[in-house]
Amino acid sequence: MPIVKAYAAADSKSNIAPLSIERRELGSHDVQVEIMYCGVCHSDIHTARNEWGGTVYPVVPGHEIVGKVKGVGSAVTKFKVGQTVGVGVMVDSCRVCPNCKNNYEQYCKEGMTGTYNALERNGSGKRTMGGYSAEIVTDENYVLNIKEQENLAGVAPLLCAGITTYSPLKFADVKKGTRVAVVGLGGLGHMAVKFAVAFGAEVTVISTSPSKVAEANKLGAHHFILAKDADSLKPYDSSFDVVLDAISADHDYTQYLNLLGLEGKLLVVGLPEHNPKVLPFALIKNRRSIIGSMIGSIKETQEMLDFCHEHKIYAEIEKIPMGSINEAYERMIKGDIKYRFVIDMSTL
Ligand SMILES: [Zn+2]
Ligand SMILES: [Zn+2]
Repeated sequence: MPIVKAYAAADSKSNIAPLSIERRELGSHDVQVEIMYCGVCHSDIHTARNEWGGTVYPVVPGHEIVGKVKGVGSAVTKFKVGQTVGVGVMVDSCRVCPNCKNNYEQYCKEGMTGTYNALERNGSGKRTMGGYSAEIVTDENYVLNIKEQENLAGVAPLLCAGITTYSPLKFADVKKGTRVAVVGLGGLGHMAVKFAVAFGAEVTVISTSPSKVAEANKLGAHHFILAKDADSLKPYDSSFDVVLDAISADHDYTQYLNLLGLEGKLLVVGLPEHNPKVLPFALIKNRRSIIGSMIGSIKETQEMLDFCHEHKIYAEIEKIPMGSINEAYERMIKGDIKYRFVIDMSTL
């Protein structure tokens, strides 16, 4: 088994610290990727600290991975050594259920295999280990091709934050003239703004912080609503087709439902700790719906990466050395990041 350098959490209270881990032997359909960049997602923190439960230690987080192919198994047809590739949130699924067969493997009936803290499907009993490491070995069917060659650090967060917002916006048929509001201008929200603008929508950012006006502008948003309190949204009742809610703090869905016009859609991608409130009257009015969404399929992720390459869309990032990961976590918890940390893996 190849041994590679990594950074891991030993338990829910410990800092992320260096650890050597075993990667599986290169199977016939496997791609060995030398990791160049790995984005830092809030899920990494939740998992490292066991905030969602179910973390098996040691855990190596990281599921926004960009790197170069270092080796390929004998039966690999999709990738060649030296090619730039990505690995996102999932590295496997059952491949035979209706959802897997129809390019919805993120909704695999058995549950997709996450890039970290999931059981490998090869029966080894081992857990998957993520991108805070020198290398990863992944089945070619769950590896993405990256055409971009310049801003690879800005590509890494597309593998989670990007696809998580691209997929629901596509599902809601956001296009030229669609009135879209984005609430929660963080790692996910800033990508939602960029995509909605690129799709030709009329985009509004809703924020409680006046300092976000300039940022929203920079990202290409057309309007800004300062939501000081519940009353400040009243004038905008029934005036949007789509509201993308990327808030991960506890909140009430009702105030955002009220913003939706006929058959408006509240797209939920944030994961608050406690169950949000929904007022049924706000739901039945205008035949509104609440739609949850989880990442995207491999096919759609590839489509999104190609779209970003074509339209020069990248995540806004701050590059950090591997050793700064614990400080980065603290800053993320405080919201002190515009908009994604990306680890430069050459510093490992
Ligand atoms: Zn993520
Ligand atoms: Zn399946």
